Amino acid sequence: MNGKKGLLLVLSGPSGTGKSTVIAGLMGLRDDIRFSVSATTRAPRPGEQDGRDYYFISREEFLDMIGRDAFLEHAEYVGNFYGTPAAPVEENMRAGFHVLLDIEVQGAAQVMAKRPDAVSVFLAPPSLEELEKRLRGRGTDDDERIARRLEAARRELAQADKYTYTVVNDDANEAARQLDAILTAELCRSDRR
Ligand code: ADP
Ligand code: 5GP
Repeated sequence: MNGKKGLLLVLSGPSGTGKSTVIAGLMGLRDDIRFSVSATTRAPRPGEQDGRDYYFISREEFLDMIGRDAFLEHAEYVGNFYGTPAAPVEENMRAGFHVLLDIEVQGAAQVMAKRPDAVSVFLAPPSLEELEKRLRGRGTDDDERIARRLEAARRELAQADKYTYTVVNDDANEAARQLDAILTAELCRSDRR
């Protein structure tokens, strides 16, 4: 780190597109990024760890955090609340790390309005058919939830043009390399130097 503040990277894309997979790939390529761990009221999926993947909290705790203005942004998505705790984002950026937010489109719009400096990337699936395959393949949602996530996906895909960059997650390694290239290019921008 060179004493400069890190960048804020906002990544959105329909559930099941492969955001977690591509983020893991990106974190394997660079060590100057910190993943922002969100708070959520949804139940953990098998293999998910509290404090690493999400902070799994109750509705009451979530409302309390809203009351304390502890979120950079928050939104309701498919019946659950999700929010980005503000303090760790600030601390990590001040320490010179780039902070990556994996958030849905309503929350991303809040961040882009508050932080015009943020770099925004939309991760798109190759097709809705492939998205459905990935959601089914992940095996974490029942038919009703998959239908709701696909319905949400159609609305989200219509928002892609609000983001500076769009990456199609056809091959996950290639998508991670493209994200890495976007970050590198953003760091080279004359107006950031
Ligand atoms: P998200 O975080 O966007 O909800 P995940 O990373 O959980 O999505 O990926 C959803 C499913 O799709 C997982 O089973 C994952 O292994 C698979 N997947 C991710 N990227 C790809 C890809 N490029 N090609 C095929 N399958 C993928
Ligand atoms: P999932 O339940 O599949 O982990 O996430 C569902 C959606 O919520 C995804 O689009 C994910 O990007 C989004 N999400 C995760 N954390 C946050 C957050 O802190 N804020 C907002 N607005 N969305 C989030």
